[in-house]
Amino acid sequence: MTKGNFLEGGCTCRAVRYRMTSAPLFVHCCHCTWCQRETGTAFALNAMIEADRVELLQGETEVVNTPSNSGQGQKISRCPTCKVAVWSNYAGAGDTVRCVRVGTLDEPARLPPDIHIFTSTKQPWVVLPRNVPAVAEYYKAADYWPKESLERRAVLRSAKPA
Ligand SMILES: [Zn+2]
Ligand SMILES: [Zn+2]
Repeated sequence: MTKGNFLEGGCTCRAVRYRMTSAPLFVHCCHCTWCQRETGTAFALNAMIEADRVELLQGETEVVNTPSNSGQGQKISRCPTCKVAVWSNYAGAGDTVRCVRVGTLDEPARLPPDIHIFTSTKQPWVVLPRNVPAVAEYYKAADYWPKESLERRAVLRSAKPA
């Protein structure tokens, strides 16, 4: 048995530590060119979860406004010391949903992608599994999310000020 909760994670210098208090809503593997540039790799792995289900256990994050493909920008929360990004908020989803960077979890293998998105720009050598949905660009949550996640999203939406 491993010690601790598998949904805990943090930055490289360990100043920032966090815990997801439940399973995420959905996990995106994004192959867009923006994610490729921001990570310096082939794709980004983001676990979408309600912001109030991410507890900061230690340290604080520095929010960096970063341009995004939508033009509305995203806020990337980074460790103020080592600058590793631990999660982000897209303008589209607002501050109520965080995209936790799965690679910062202590056990990232526990959250494999639920969907591959923006595969139109994926690196040609990345071979996708046949049993995981993949879309050329984006998609409608209602078409892919499990019922429980859609219900959680409905709660978020109803809590938003009109
Ligand atoms: Zn750090
Ligand atoms: Zn992306």
